[in-house]
Amino acid sequence: MSKKVRVRFAPSPTGGLHLGGVRTVLYNYLFAKKNKGDFIVRIEDTDQNRYVPGAEEYIFETLKWCGLEPDESVQHGGSYGPYRQSERKEIYRQYAEKLVAEGHAYYAFDTPEELEKMRQDFKTAQNPSPQYDHTIRMRMRNSLTLSTEKTKELLDAGTRQVIRIKMPEKETVSFTDMIRGEVSFDSSTVDDKVLLKADGMPTYHLAVVVDDHLMQISHAFRGEEWLPSAPVHILLWKYLFGLENMPQWAHFPLILGPNGKLSKRDGAKYGFPVFAMNWTDPKTGELTEGFKEKGFLPEAFINLLALLGWNDGTEQEIFSKEELIEKFSMERVHSAGAKFDYEKAKWFNHEWIKRMKVEDLNPKVSELLVQSGITITNKDLLDKIITLVKDRCTLLTDFIQQSTFFFKAPEEVDVDAVKPKWSEAKKLFFAELIRNYELAPDWNAHTLETNFKEIASVNDLKPGELMLPFRIMLVGGKFGPGVFEIAELLGKEETIKRMQFAISKF
Ligand code: GLU
Repeated sequence: MSKKVRVRFAPSPTGGLHLGGVRTVLYNYLFAKKNKGDFIVRIEDTDQNRYVPGAEEYIFETLKWCGLEPDESVQHGGSYGPYRQSERKEIYRQYAEKLVAEGHAYYAFDTPEELEKMRQDFKTAQNPSPQYDHTIRMRMRNSLTLSTEKTKELLDAGTRQVIRIKMPEKETVSFTDMIRGEVSFDSSTVDDKVLLKADGMPTYHLAVVVDDHLMQISHAFRGEEWLPSAPVHILLWKYLFGLENMPQWAHFPLILGPNGKLSKRDGAKYGFPVFAMNWTDPKTGELTEGFKEKGFLPEAFINLLALLGWNDGTEQEIFSKEELIEKFSMERVHSAGAKFDYEKAKWFNHEWIKRMKVEDLNPKVSELLVQSGITITNKDLLDKIITLVKDRCTLLTDFIQQSTFFFKAPEEVDVDAVKPKWSEAKKLFFAELIRNYELAPDWNAHTLETNFKEIASVNDLKPGELMLPFRIMLVGGKFGPGVFEIAELLGKEETIKRMQFAISKF
């Protein structure tokens, strides 16, 4: 029987979740669900200096909003916990010590000053920032250069020390990446990374390997930015576990912005969101806008993310989560960077709004309108409004402009759009129209339109030229759905009131 699929998303809680991070979650999730496996979220918070309050809660809220709920996590429980690395601190030392005992790692006692001196002493034009690696390690203060007695003495005295991996000098480290195929590294180019820090915390490199092992992770999928760390992880898997049950690896392509890798700054510069949800940096107070608050539906957000780096081999672009689970395959994930196009992202959202059932849109639109100060007492009326305007809304927030005028008479009327072409004949037409509408027995769009056109024709006026003033009277500007549908929903009294008020201004 093949091994149960268990994948993990392993974020460090250092800030908001970027598009690329959510896409990593999504691909992990889809792969797990497709293979009836488990999706685990592990919080990698061993770097205490980078800890940001609120970031962990933000991650879980984002997953919830996207509908990508983990099977196991700090919040969901599970039998492989704790799922927060800082709570697993005690686990890692024994692995680091085992590596030392077997000659794959060593204690390093160098002080920050000594490390700085090394960087200065070995700096050359070709090598401006020398690393602690096989060319340098024998000139430093560590258990490879000190005698066994001296090392023991320093350890017994509790001297500050770290454990570093001893990277082999000449070894080709290879592994198969599910997206890139065979990937090889020359071990001599990689430095002796710290595995266990002076504060007793593991670094990411040690913790990721130990936890993937203990949590029985079958596939480790992550962003391309982690590819350079892969040789360290492969060697640790070899030294600690003889490569037994090592997960299959995949590194997802970068998401590209207008100038290379998509960054937070691109978002601010070009006016599009880069994070899933709004994120306020607790230190600087800086707000980075999110797709959620911008007015994206989670369905559209995951759909557009799925297609940033994957397609099903057909022209199909709109996929529900269920379809994505059914169709997703790692074979169809590209290795080249995927370009993010905000116009296309909005297109996805528009398509999803058009497809979404009115009853599902109602609570979302209602929430937005209430936030903008509108009181909604009639759910059915809102249903009718949504039906009427949804095709015109690209973002959920567009519903505010497209429906506010149903609840509130416009505060400003675009007089300038009407005045230059306003005439005595038009004034008379609208006066007659008001009289007609006052008496209209059936208040529905069809009758209102028929009467409008008849009166126009009797007065020898083109309905086309009367439509814009009528619209401006009702909504205040040049927007909104069909004007007779608007009048129908506004009702007789309100329609006539708005007409009279606007006419007095033209
Ligand atoms: N903690 C890493 C991060 O912040 C995880 C990388 C991995 O998945 O191995 O993205």
